[in-house]
Amino acid sequence: ESITVAELANRMAEKTSDLVKALFKMGSPSASTDLLDQDTAELLVTEFGHEIIRVSEGDVDIRHDEDIDDAEHLKPRAPVVTIMGHVDHGKTSLLDALRGANVVAGEAGGITQHIGAYQVKTPDGSQVTFLDTPGHEAFTEMRQRGANVTDIVILVVAADDGLKPQSIEAIAHAKAAGVPIIVAINKVDKEGANPQRVRERLLEHELVVEEMGGDVQNVEVSALKKTGLDKLLDAIAVQAEIMELKANPDRAAEGTVIEAKLDKGRGPVATILVRRGTLKVGDIFVCGAESGRVRALIDDQGKQIKSAGPSMPVEVLGLGGVPMAGDTLTVVENEARAREVATYRQEQATRKRTVQAPVSLEGMFEALADKANVIQFPVIIKGDVQGSVEAIVNALNKLSTDEIRVRVLQSGAGAITESDVTLAAATKAPIIGFNVRPNAKARDIAKRENVRFMYHDVIYHLTDEIRKEMAGELGPER
Ligand code: GDP
Repeated sequence: ESITVAELANRMAEKTSDLVKALFKMGSPSASTDLLDQDTAELLVTEFGHEIIRVSEGDVDIRHDEDIDDAEHLKPRAPVVTIMGHVDHGKTSLLDALRGANVVAGEAGGITQHIGAYQVKTPDGSQVTFLDTPGHEAFTEMRQRGANVTDIVILVVAADDGLKPQSIEAIAHAKAAGVPIIVAINKVDKEGANPQRVRERLLEHELVVEEMGGDVQNVEVSALKKTGLDKLLDAIAVQAEIMELKANPDRAAEGTVIEAKLDKGRGPVATILVRRGTLKVGDIFVCGAESGRVRALIDDQGKQIKSAGPSMPVEVLGLGGVPMAGDTLTVVENEARAREVATYRQEQATRKRTVQAPVSLEGMFEALADKANVIQFPVIIKGDVQGSVEAIVNALNKLSTDEIRVRVLQSGAGAITESDVTLAAATKAPIIGFNVRPNAKARDIAKRENVRFMYHDVIYHLTDEIRKEMAGELGPER
């Protein structure tokens, strides 16, 4: 594990040049792009009066306890599985079938909740965690945010349709992430189903199934007729055993946000996949740039629970705000520490934003004026869940033409805040509230500044309205 001088400086919020100077004094002259070994990095951190803390794996941050879990503390944990595959090959049906099987096996009247992930028991009694958002977009996005939560990918291929572009993309994504693939050959109940053809085509993508002397497991299933599901769960259990997935359940919890939203009755709610340790009611935590205390934990069956161990997905109540999918939740010892880490992460996030894109108003106006003959249609988007915000951004981007472009100035999950309104006032952009409203302060400023809100709860109503406005901007002659 190593880090460049510049990256370390960035994480310590120090000047790179100061680190280079210090390294020179320490007798190891280095350039800003040089990699530092662990020892030198730690020495530098202490030299600059910071504590060595790794808030999460591979993250030299601010640390409160011993980092490495001794092998003796590690216990087996459930594998985390993402289902991928071409559109209409049956990803959703398979997720539902697997979940349904579990409900029948569970208590009568058990109501499954969609919290973004759920657990299923395999025939041998072990657990499997399924992430509820199929497809490689969510998978890749989580990876881009540094959250590699998936242990195993199930590639769904319809036996009557064979390998398709998105199947091949999914293979590429799983391979890039170094995640093993199990192939679920679906729709074997259909006339014209040809599982053998699928196995042969997989060869072209270096997936050699067991029948052909390789080590890739494949299972023939029908999500519709609910056949082969136990076999698939068995295959997952086998793969998990080979991988020896382990975590220490007896430590302060660390987890990843799978999805987060602002719930009307319950406030900010996040589904956390516990990575290690055990998350308990009452725990104080930092989650992305938010902090809080666990008020309640709710499992995928809608039941309140007291604690959640490694690989368990749980809804967490008690957050100060809505975090982002992919954010890390870390339990800390007290509120002072929580605030410290949250502030630190906020600074980091701001730094990252300023590096990635100039968000000064000048910069934004320049960008708006950019292509002189293309009319810009600026918007600010706030929604109750990150997922719908992303869907809206995608839908609006599709409305852009050669003459007029939609420009999303800011988007995110959570209530409409003063900062959204200030930006809207400065840029004359309307604010789209998808199942969210402005807070009182934001409303006051909006009134004063004549900021326009567009409230919607159906995406196509929203796109219709924007399309009409865009046509209006272009004028009657077109
Ligand atoms: P997704 O786009 O990959 O999530 O695919 P869906 O789960 O939405 O399934 C697409 C269509 O295929 C739906 O009409 C399903 O009813 C159908 N389907 C899914 N699994 C099976 C199966 O095992 N057999 C048959 N005959 N149809 C299936």
